[in-house]
Amino acid sequence: MASYQPNQSNLTSWVPVPPDHPFSIQNLPFGIFAPKPGDPRPGVAIGDHILDLAELNIWEGDSLNGLMARPPQVWSDLRARVSWLLNSENPELRDTSGRALHRAEDVELLLPAAIGDYVDFYSSLEHATNVGSMFRDPANPLLPNWRWLPIGYHGKSGTVSVSGTPVKRPKGQLTGDNQSAVYAPCRRLDIELETGFFLGSSGDIFGLVLLNDWSARDIQRWEYQPLGPFLAKSFLTSISPWVVTLDALTPFRVDGPEQQPAPLPHLQTAEPRNYDIHLEVWLQPASAPSATCIARTNFRHMYWSMRQQVQHLTSNGAPVRAGDLCGSGTISGPTRDSFGSLLELAWNGTKPITLDTGETRAFLEDGDTITLRGWCQGVGYRVGFGDVTGTVVPA
Ligand code: CA
Repeated sequence: MASYQPNQSNLTSWVPVPPDHPFSIQNLPFGIFAPKPGDPRPGVAIGDHILDLAELNIWEGDSLNGLMARPPQVWSDLRARVSWLLNSENPELRDTSGRALHRAEDVELLLPAAIGDYVDFYSSLEHATNVGSMFRDPANPLLPNWRWLPIGYHGKSGTVSVSGTPVKRPKGQLTGDNQSAVYAPCRRLDIELETGFFLGSSGDIFGLVLLNDWSARDIQRWEYQPLGPFLAKSFLTSISPWVVTLDALTPFRVDGPEQQPAPLPHLQTAEPRNYDIHLEVWLQPASAPSATCIARTNFRHMYWSMRQQVQHLTSNGAPVRAGDLCGSGTISGPTRDSFGSLLELAWNGTKPITLDTGETRAFLEDGDTITLRGWCQGVGYRVGFGDVTGTVVPA
C-alpha cells in the first residue's frame, strides 16, 4: 500500500464511472448520508454510488468531525485504502460489495460536518474591484488594506445547510435614499459563487465544497456600516454535500496571480498556491423547461489562497477546531460572463441578464432555482464537486 498512488490518472474502478462524472476513483470525496431507513453514517461517493464506510467498519459517526480531527496522514491513508477497495484490479470487495454499496438516489445526503466557526473571506480581486467600482470609486475601487490581508468576517454557522434546502426569501429593513427604513421582504436577493474549505484541528485543510452565500443586497446596503454584513447573509448558506479532499485536488495545483505588494512574511506561501477548478452558475425559473448557464469562471483567479486565509485567520493566536468552515469569498473572473454574483452580472440592476427563455433577471425571483457546479478536468476523468442547488420560496 505504501507505493499506491490514488491520484494516478490510469486507475479505474469496478463501479462504473463515465469520464465526465464528478466522482471518479481519482476523487473519492467524503460525506455523511442516511440510507432510507438507516442512521447517518460516513460514505465515499464513486460514480452514482456511495461506499458505506460504517458497514465496512472503516469509519463511523454522524459527522466527519472525528476524521477531520485526525492528522492529515490519516486522511491520506484512508483515501488510499478506499481507492484500493474500489480499484478494478482488486476483487476483495468487487464480488461481495452487497450492503456496502448504496445507489446515490436511494439515500439522503446530509451536512458533512457539525460546523463550529464559519468565516467568509473576500479574496477575489475582480469581485472586490467590481463591488468597489459600483459603490465607491471606479478610479480607486480597493480599500487600502485589501492587498495586505485577506479580508473576512465571522458568519453564522447555524444556517449553513446542505444542498437542496429551500431558500426562503428573507425579510429585513430596507431603505430608500431618504434614510428611513421599512421592514419588508428582500427585493434584491442574490447569490455568491464560492468554494468552502473544512479545517482539521491542526489547521490543515481537509477538503473543499461548493458554497452559495445567499445575500440580500438591499438589507446589506442599510445594515453593513460600520461593522460589516449581518442579517443580509445569516439566513442561509448552502454547501454541496461531498467534501473533495485537498489530496484529490493536488494534481490541479496552479500558480496564483502575482501579489503586489509582496505579502508580509507570515502570509507568504510557496507556489503553486491555487487550484484549477472550473466553476459554473445555472439559473432556472420555475416556468422554464431548462436552466441557463449565467456565469463560467475558475478558482485559479483567486488573489489570496486558502493557505494564506488560514495563516491570516490564526495570525492573532486564535485556534481552529476540526469542522470549522471557511468560504473563499465570491469568485469572479476577469470577463463580464465570469462574475460570481447577480450584483455584478447585472451591474447593480442596471444591465439585467437575459435567460435562454427570453426572461431577464437583475436579482432572484420566487421560484428561481440556482445550481453551482464545479470540477477539475483530468485526462479522461474529472474530480468534481457535484451540485449545490437551492430554490427561492416566498417570504
Ligand atoms: Ca460571501
